[in-house]
Amino acid sequence: MRIEGIPASPGYAEGPLFDLDRPPAAYDVKASAAEEKEALKAATGKAVSRLAAMIETADGDAAGILEFHIAMLEDDALSAPAFAAIGSGEPADAAWRQALDAEIAGYEASDQDYFRARAADLRDIRDQVLRALSENSETAPPPGAIFYGSDIAPTRFLETDWSRGGGIALEAGSTASHVAMLARSRGVPMVVGLGALADRRAGNALLDAEHGGIVFSPSPAELEDFRQSSSSFAARQGQAQTFLTQPAATKAGTFVRVQVNIAYPSDVDGIDIATCDGVGLMRTEFLFGKALPDEQTQYQAYRKVLEWAGEKPVTIRTVDAGGDKPIPGFTVEETNPFLGLRGIRLSLARSDIFRVQIRALLRAAVHGNLKVMFPMIAIAEEYAQAAALFAEEQAALASRGVAHKLPPLGIMVEVPSVAVAPEAFADVAFFSIGSNDLTQYVMAAARDNAAVAHLNSARHPAVLRLIASVAAFGREKGIPVSLCGDAGGDPAAIPALIEAGLRDLSVAPAQLAMAKAAIADVPV
Ligand code: PEP
Ligand code: MG
Repeated sequence: MRIEGIPASPGYAEGPLFDLDRPPAAYDVKASAAEEKEALKAATGKAVSRLAAMIETADGDAAGILEFHIAMLEDDALSAPAFAAIGSGEPADAAWRQALDAEIAGYEASDQDYFRARAADLRDIRDQVLRALSENSETAPPPGAIFYGSDIAPTRFLETDWSRGGGIALEAGSTASHVAMLARSRGVPMVVGLGALADRRAGNALLDAEHGGIVFSPSPAELEDFRQSSSSFAARQGQAQTFLTQPAATKAGTFVRVQVNIAYPSDVDGIDIATCDGVGLMRTEFLFGKALPDEQTQYQAYRKVLEWAGEKPVTIRTVDAGGDKPIPGFTVEETNPFLGLRGIRLSLARSDIFRVQIRALLRAAVHGNLKVMFPMIAIAEEYAQAAALFAEEQAALASRGVAHKLPPLGIMVEVPSVAVAPEAFADVAFFSIGSNDLTQYVMAAARDNAAVAHLNSARHPAVLRLIASVAAFGREKGIPVSLCGDAGGDPAAIPALIEAGLRDLSVAPAQLAMAKAAIADVPV
């Protein structure tokens, strides 16, 4: 029986099912309070060493989250109430759960976003220790397992050894989630939006994360079909690798620039600069993940990427907080966040925070070929105000004698008002089309809602017509136009984007080879 969902990270996996929502195994109550205390200490120690092992392979932001978890686990104040409860006769699992639940309730009741967001970290820690307390060989996921359930925690993803295969199948989830991004960058197949998977199923399943679906209890015919698709995918990926080191060109020899999208400075560690034409989009909101980063932290992050890219361009986008990317202490709570104080709107409203980023960018610009763009621009005044802040900060740095450079300033084209009437922006240095947001706003179908995923297509003629008209406007005015939304890395969308006149795409690093291979197949 096949259930359809949305592909969040392409690939195929065949393996035993592991139920993410299964209740933890029953805890073995010990004979004495002293043994209970030992059990809790051992479980906490186990959780800490797992986290430490995960840090070894984690990138900057994920490592930061994990270090924060270790610090909390090593804080005696957090475990003291649990040890006290064990002293009065509670078993370790109940004592730990009660102590953490009380702490979580305190955080949840806070009137500050930052502390409310930390409740999720505490829940994660609570469950890691509970798992370590009750786990035995039957409750651990088997190698190569397909994890399925309502959602998966980032730590669960990071602690799993994916080198032995496996994948993720979620009832809800979103292609834009943090775990989905990790899955794409590590090549772990993932499908979201499968809907209620009802009764718990056991045995083997087939995960098709190329088209988006899962088959439970496969018949021999389904298995054979699946294996064919899976080996054809592997063969296409293998062939695509041969395109990786070549410049991308269509059958007719039209060159297409292919750059990469990154989120963390450490993302570039795994990319050979020779395989791409630069960074078409560095999302900076992930640097703002836990706390607001100071100027020096941002400067170093931007400088690292610029130095890695050498002479090739690096387009850094100013923080696009809000919408589906809340940042504690920065974004505001709204009933309709995708249409609210998001991207440049929020940066202009909080110019104290924005100016810190602007100074870091101006200083980093001397280390490479930097371009800066603003997200969610809807009207020309927003661009003018942001550019004026750059000019002000530049003058201030100059008067203090600090090394800096003013980079070319461009805008994302992702709000329909800009795509429909680009003439108001004839003075910007470049356009970068954000097809993810442009599509959701044109189609009135949220990008993170599986129920309307069938409407959210960048290949709809309405979206493609807008893209073509922006490309034509850019050609006419001599303004470079690129595209950095996910459609740029989608082999199914690439022919239409080239047909629409685009010659510059920016894609997730894991999609680079496939994108170049898809370009080579386009006739024009
Ligand atoms: C987009 O909207 O297409 C885009 C590239 O930006 P983000 O996905 O970060 O909103
Ligand atoms: Mg966007």
